[in-house]
Amino acid sequence: MIQKIFVSDNNIAIFVCPNCNVSKSADVSKYKRINKSVKLTIKCPCGNVYSVLMEMRRHYRKQVSIPGKYVFNSFHGKVQNGALTVVDISRRGLGLNFRTIPPIQIGSVFVVEFNLDDKQHTLIKKQVSVMRLVGQFVGVEFCSIDPSDPSDKALGFYLF
Ligand SMILES: [Zn+2]
Repeated sequence: MIQKIFVSDNNIAIFVCPNCNVSKSADVSKYKRINKSVKLTIKCPCGNVYSVLMEMRRHYRKQVSIPGKYVFNSFHGKVQNGALTVVDISRRGLGLNFRTIPPIQIGSVFVVEFNLDDKQHTLIKKQVSVMRLVGQFVGVEFCSIDPSDPSDKALGFYLF
């Protein structure tokens, strides 16, 4: 199986040799203009030669299926909340699948809460803005991205 790796914002990629588990980091800035995955062949000091698939898409979306909830304040001050499923995650936003769509439109702002399926089940709580509405599917963007926000930090690790 080919190893799939992600590149951090500072264009550092980490490869792990499947034979000896020695990791090697490399500056991959020269590939940063390529907006797709790149296949690389790595030669490890142990003699093993292996291939990795490097994900260069900047807005990589991870496909998931994570239960969550939303809290939506309508103009009339009525609070609506309900269940949803997070279907994809990127650094900039989420894809959500609603069981029942609340009265939202493009630009509506609401809060999404869910626990990542990582080891710590990290709680993610973000204010989001609606970008796309397709049936039960709602594409949202985070209203703010702040490196000191624990949710953003956790998402960075999760997507790496
Ligand atoms: Zn090796």
